[in-house]
Amino acid sequence: HCEISNNNGYKFFNPKMESELSNRIQMESLLRGALSRDELSLNYQPFVDTQSQNVIGAEVLIRWYNPTLGQVSPVDFIENAEQSGQIIEIGYFVLRNALKQLAYWRELYNRDFYLAINISPVQLKDSYLIDKIVQLLELYKIPGNLLEIELTENAFIHDATHAQEILNKLHHHGIRLSLDDFGTGYSSLSYLQNYPFNSVKIDRSFIRNLETSEQSRQLVNTIIAMANNLQLSLVAEGVENQFQADFVAKQGANIWQGYHLGKPVDANDFAQQYLIPSMTPLF
Ligand code: C2E
Ligand code: MG
Ligand code: MG
Ligand code: MG
Repeated sequence: HCEISNNNGYKFFNPKMESELSNRIQMESLLRGALSRDELSLNYQPFVDTQSQNVIGAEVLIRWYNPTLGQVSPVDFIENAEQSGQIIEIGYFVLRNALKQLAYWRELYNRDFYLAINISPVQLKDSYLIDKIVQLLELYKIPGNLLEIELTENAFIHDATHAQEILNKLHHHGIRLSLDDFGTGYSSLSYLQNYPFNSVKIDRSFIRNLETSEQSRQLVNTIIAMANNLQLSLVAEGVENQFQADFVAKQGANIWQGYHLGKPVDANDFAQQYLIPSMTPLF
């Protein structure tokens, strides 16, 4: 960032910064009404078990459609919501609706199936988080192990001790924990040692280059072997073709996810495509 402070602590803004600031303020204010205007929704992206080739769960991914801004990617608004604190309320919207959906699917299709929900570091600081999650699980009669919480390493940057306390409590309630975007941060290995993670999601930047880069293949092999040795479930994210699916399966990944099977879709499409029993094999 090119913010320049003088000795009085005043900051000079250039026109680009000014427009970035006004964009941020506009987004923040539109996001503030998004829940009440019903602009937020959830998509679901399947997880495939590498052994059985069955869909065993889904990741929940938020979507925002605003009439002024159009479709806004979570990559572009989650950070804004974190800065303004709105992520707390949005986070509850995601948890409540996803678990309600899961309860409905469990009743209708009567099969074991789990959801993975992304949680922001800011949500970990909310002192009601655990109670609310536990209440929702009870309300919808969902066993804790059918909820997986995905965290990135950012969760530990500010207050690792507090994060550890929260993760231990979630673990105690049987909720599964997954380290997302593995390999992109600074010291992931120590997190695996000190926190009760059940699974690791290897970042899609490693999967993307599998066909072309021997180094990527070696890195993926090494990460999968490490997860296997630590008895962590390994999820390969961003699998876009059969080569990548075969490669990670052969190396011992437990689960994969990616456009090769399906993009995130809404609940109705998800049920149509993956939950209604069908005679056609996926591959
Ligand atoms: P993430 O948790 O790492 O999610 C994976 C992202 O990769 C998703 O993007 C998904 O659509 C995309 N993806 C999945 N398979 C493929 C593939 O084969 N190829 C490619 N190119 N992309 C693939 P999305 O939905 O745009 O979400 C982006 C990020 O926004 C997520 O990254 C997550 O960090 C955040 N996010 C999404 N929903 C939520 C939410 O409900 N709460 C919080 N706190 N963050 C969320
Ligand atoms: Mg994720
Ligand atoms: Mg990820
Ligand atoms: Mg990511």
